[in-house]
Amino acid sequence: MFNKKTIRDVDVSGKKVLVREDLNVPLKAGEVGDDTRILAALPTINYLVEQNAAVIVISHLGRPGGERKEELSLKPVADYLATLLDNKVSFVPDCIGDEAQEAVQSLQAGEVLVLENTRFHPGEKTNDPQFSQELAALADLFVNDAFGTSHRSHASNVGVSNHLPTVAGFLIEKELEYLGNAIENPSRPFTAILGGAKVSGKISVIRNLIEKVDHILIGGGMANTFFASQGIKMGKSLVEEDVLSLADDLLQSAGDKLILPVDFVIGEQFANEAEKKIIEVGNVPADWMVMDIGPESLKLFKRIINKSKTIVWNGPMGVFEFPKFSSGTFELAKMIAESQAVSIIGGGDSAAAVKQAGLSASITHVSTGGGASLQMLEGSPLPGLEAIHDR
Ligand code: AMP
Repeated sequence: MFNKKTIRDVDVSGKKVLVREDLNVPLKAGEVGDDTRILAALPTINYLVEQNAAVIVISHLGRPGGERKEELSLKPVADYLATLLDNKVSFVPDCIGDEAQEAVQSLQAGEVLVLENTRFHPGEKTNDPQFSQELAALADLFVNDAFGTSHRSHASNVGVSNHLPTVAGFLIEKELEYLGNAIENPSRPFTAILGGAKVSGKISVIRNLIEKVDHILIGGGMANTFFASQGIKMGKSLVEEDVLSLADDLLQSAGDKLILPVDFVIGEQFANEAEKKIIEVGNVPADWMVMDIGPESLKLFKRIINKSKTIVWNGPMGVFEFPKFSSGTFELAKMIAESQAVSIIGGGDSAAAVKQAGLSASITHVSTGGGASLQMLEGSPLPGLEAIHDR
């Protein structure tokens, strides 16, 4: 199904290769807080180094708003990368301009140069042709490996491909292999599990998945809106009043494929210190709110998970940031990790939960892109992937 060129299809030896990675990692006190995305970029960078390319790495980090923000510099990421590679890694505090050009000119085969945050330039997010051209002028070939950015049409992932031969890196290839395959060609039963705060952000995902899955399990705040659409009282829970009729339509069209929780953990305020209770659906007191799915829901979900052959999960089952209301999300992560199914975690909060629980190794594929994987689940084209040149 992968009809795009990859780095295996081109000769990179002796070439200046511009590599777009997604090194958008959380920083804590100026240091890398979570290295998942840096580690995910290594296979491509290592391959290019081994093949004697001069490797120029670009990425965005955070939301600097088109101007230089020291706290969003990629320097700590470059320093971290240097600890993982045997070869020389250097850094230049801009991604275009004289200093970047000079550094590229003196860059030797097998060396790695990290350029500064592309979003320090306003042309990055507007996909400005001039900015794209200046990035492209640094290299002979463009490798796009930034899966986590592929739902965006920016200069450093899409614009550049108008000026240079463009191929996919190993991470993009792997993400497509697992996510794409799961959606288009799943072993069945195929179960999708969706959670998170809102139905509104995931309407198209639900619509698309209903067509493809055998079961769709819904938890998190989203479930509240589905119950409210059936006239069930949800107390002070998060409910999206403006999509009630849409939620009702989705429930009708999904039939018995769509499975909602049967009990909840509720709190009397939105805080970890809140008093908590377990109740059945329909019994939320007027001044309490749903904070997590309950134990009976977990048992119900477990029965379906255990007979599934493919599982895709996106979105927490409750307010998992509060330890008191995190067990639905962590128990679910454990069930998925222990199941025999091909398991795919769609980035974002669910990936963080799996990592926090130390379960990543028991999952078939943990996606590095939250927004990008959601867009794939939605069945919408991703501009960053489209821009890679066809075979
Ligand atoms: P999303 O970005 O839509 O995937 O939502 C993730 C957020 O949903 C997390 O920050 C959770 O705390 C939140 N969330 C999950 N369940 C609930 C709930 N029952 N009430 C309020 N927020 C929730």
